[in-house]
Amino acid sequence: MRELYWFQHDLRLQDNPALLEHVSASELLLVYCWPEARPWCNLKGIGGQRERFLRESLQSLRDQLRALGQDLLICFDAPEQILPRLVRQFRIERVGTALTPGYHERHTREALFNALQVPLQLHSGNTLFRQRDLPFAPSALPGQFTPFREQLENLLAPQTVARPTRLPPTPAGVNFVPLEKAELPPHTALPLRGGALEGQRRLQQWVFERQDIAQYKLTRNCLDPLDGSSTLSPWLANGCLSVREVAAAVIDYEQRIERNESTRWLLFELLWREFFQWRALGDDVSLFRAGGARRRLTRCTFEPRNFARWSQGDTNFPLVNALMHQLVATGWMSNRGRQIAASCLVHEFGIDWRYGAAFFEKHLLDYDVASNYGNWQYLAGVGADPRGGRHFNQAKQAAEHDPEQLFTVKWDGLRPQQPEFVTDAADWPI
Ligand SMILES: Cc1cc2nc3c(=O)[nH]c(=O)nc-3n(C[C@H](O)[C@H](O)[C@H](O)COP(=O)(O)OP(=O)(O)OC[C@H]3O[C@@H](n4cnc5c(N)ncnc54)[C@H](O)[C@@H]3O)c2cc1C
Repeated sequence: MRELYWFQHDLRLQDNPALLEHVSASELLLVYCWPEARPWCNLKGIGGQRERFLRESLQSLRDQLRALGQDLLICFDAPEQILPRLVRQFRIERVGTALTPGYHERHTREALFNALQVPLQLHSGNTLFRQRDLPFAPSALPGQFTPFREQLENLLAPQTVARPTRLPPTPAGVNFVPLEKAELPPHTALPLRGGALEGQRRLQQWVFERQDIAQYKLTRNCLDPLDGSSTLSPWLANGCLSVREVAAAVIDYEQRIERNESTRWLLFELLWREFFQWRALGDDVSLFRAGGARRRLTRCTFEPRNFARWSQGDTNFPLVNALMHQLVATGWMSNRGRQIAASCLVHEFGIDWRYGAAFFEKHLLDYDVASNYGNWQYLAGVGADPRGGRHFNQAKQAAEHDPEQLFTVKWDGLRPQQPEFVTDAADWPI
């Protein structure tokens, strides 16, 4: 049978069970569609570092495919337009892809189900568990993390599948256009490159060579990448690494070397990721609603000058400024940094959290719809947080996480203090 496999957030050959479903095709067309630049919250398109990492990940996948006599067709049209055209042109009989959460993603799939005229098969995505292995029905998914974790942590036994050693040939006549290189190099503070080989190298180094995993619980709140937390998120979000590979490496480390609070904590964080993935599938459009799934009304506004100051790192909070500069320059921010910066936007400036989430979406190398919007909702008090939001004390956070201001100075956070804006009753700046 002549088949088409549509890569989305799974840019790898190893541990890709969805792709394996297509290796017995007679001919196989492999396709990737570049992310659409939808306007959202005054923003459009993706930032320079995120684009670079994606290009590198795609190039790495292409190189691996070429070594097996295959190639990747990279398209710049919307999937619901280009995939039906390719199906007709190459007389494809079956299309497959991995399930990804997200409202737009679901819409695209529905449009494809209608337009393709051949079966579209949805395979399991980049999650620790397959839907059929979850101990609850999708409709009974716990609304909060703790009951979710309690039901899953003892079932965690990640199985990975080997990479294919051969792939079916490409249909004749496909015009594989080279991918242009990214304009930006990686920032020297975060010299990470996209692609499965780089991701696997980092995983091996972090877990087995340097054994940083053994101190993770103590170091994970560090504001810099690489020395504190695993910094695996860019490869996980683009699917250059599967989450099962990461969990399997940690469990292997526990069995062969040491199991301690830190190794357990890393698995706990992977369960947080898992929680947001499944919640996003259920929450669908509510993930983008100001009040979330429960439609909780909160006092918030959009004040463009405050938003501009936050996004440019020009607020009266030096650590927040430094964090925002780090984000735009490198495409990454630590978990603690994200919490501090997000809390500032939501709780100090009273701005609608979705503008902050959209800004993160544009710039993060590891942008992932479920983790990004899920965490923002949690912080803003409209998501899965039983405490109803997290308001971080900015001065306390700065004293705790950057006591000597080394990070703040390194990322140029000390700006002259600006007068607060004064607004009238209709929220217009005076
Ligand atoms: C406002 C906000 C926005 C965020 N946006 C994203 C996003 O777009 N993409 C993303 O992958 N993560 C996001 N996170 C979660 C978290 O900050 C990052 O996953 C983490 O900082 C990545 O660095 P790391 O790989 O070193 O993490 P580590 O601490 O080493 O954790 C290992 C892995 O566990 C997962 N993980 C850890 N913490 C979380 C968490 N709170 N939620 C979900 N997964 C987690 C990630 O896959 C991460 O790579 C966000 C957090 C906040 C507060």
